[in-house]
Amino acid sequence: MAGLTLNHLYKRYDNSGKKKKIKNDFAVKDLNLVCEQGEFVALLGPSGCGKTTTLRMIAGLEEITDGEIFIGDRLVNKLHPKDRNIGLAFEDYAMYPPLNVYGNVAFNMRAKGVPKEEIDRKVREIAPLMQIDDLLDKMPVKLSGGQKQRVNIARAIIREPELLLMDEPLSHLDGKARQAMRTEIKRLINKIKCTTVYVTHDQLEAMSLADKIAIINFGVLQQFGTPTEVYDDPANEFVASFIGEPPMNILETTIINKDGTFFFTFEDSNLQIAVPKRYYSVVSDGFRCKMGVRPMDVLIGGPDSQGTSEEIATFENLGDERRIGVRVGDVLMMLITEDEKRYKRGDVIKLEVREEKTHLFDIETGDRIREKN
Ligand code: ATP
Repeated sequence: MAGLTLNHLYKRYDNSGKKKKIKNDFAVKDLNLVCEQGEFVALLGPSGCGKTTTLRMIAGLEEITDGEIFIGDRLVNKLHPKDRNIGLAFEDYAMYPPLNVYGNVAFNMRAKGVPKEEIDRKVREIAPLMQIDDLLDKMPVKLSGGQKQRVNIARAIIREPELLLMDEPLSHLDGKARQAMRTEIKRLINKIKCTTVYVTHDQLEAMSLADKIAIINFGVLQQFGTPTEVYDDPANEFVASFIGEPPMNILETTIINKDGTFFFTFEDSNLQIAVPKRYYSVVSDGFRCKMGVRPMDVLIGGPDSQGTSEEIATFENLGDERRIGVRVGDVLMMLITEDEKRYKRGDVIKLEVREEKTHLFDIETGDRIREKN
């Protein structure tokens, strides 16, 4: 087992032959990342942001344009994939159809000429771990999606790789099976403690599985941190709106100064929210920025509430929580409540915001505006 270091990694595809010119042809741009030994790191971002390209460069399946890749302290830039000592579990879990599960799991070791007894010992050791021990005689066509995926991961880890790379391994599974497999992967990774890089576009998957998450957009790393860090302390507007479901409310605001107290105000709305004192050193009367607040930090006030009266625009009952939308200018501000009451469109509520939980973002760049110490 080893850690992984990416140093100023770049990938530029040559699109010169393409009829349609692609403007930003950097699939990955100046990516720096250090995954500690035994850490589970998720690469997270929207479709086309460069996750798979990064994983394929680590695996040696894609040439790198510039930069360095270290597995442990070995520079692997020029190493063939088979010499990098990695285990791969990709989305496409193609198996050898004429071989049963045992044959599929054992395939690589047989190809390498590992003695039969050792192969058998390893397959029998890994099978219960992946809960495929009762499937070893089955043919691939007889397996469910979840079972195929477990076999796929077993094939990757049986080689005792230094680094395990997984690309959207759960994408073929639907809701319940996906959740069950997520728990499985967590259990497995806790057991084998192999440094793992896991590609996903699903923030829930990343949040629940990973020790650290690298959030990427347009090939550029936006933030690298623990799930708590990226959720509570987002580096910019992109991260703030990508992590969390429903996403953070982000509204353009003009800050005003009323008798020495600063308030966020919003166009075409009566809503005013006090600016936390910690931001007083970075704001001024008339200051324009964006304010972010998570739906669970927007509350319905009681009868004596000092909050603003707002009309409910949308109401969704999701069983154990209810989502309410309130128009603030032309933006729908969402709040989540566990309040049992069934509201309807047009009902008026007192809206309160946990002002300490508000974030400020630069109106142009989307970067976080942080308080000065
Ligand atoms: P997804 O979640 O949809 O798989 P991704 O984040 O994994 O997306 P990549 O597949 O790494 O993204 O693609 C990153 C960018 O590189 C995209 O703009 C894609 O169109 C481009 N790209 C990927 N492979 C090639 C290729 N072989 N030739 C040219 N451009 C490519």
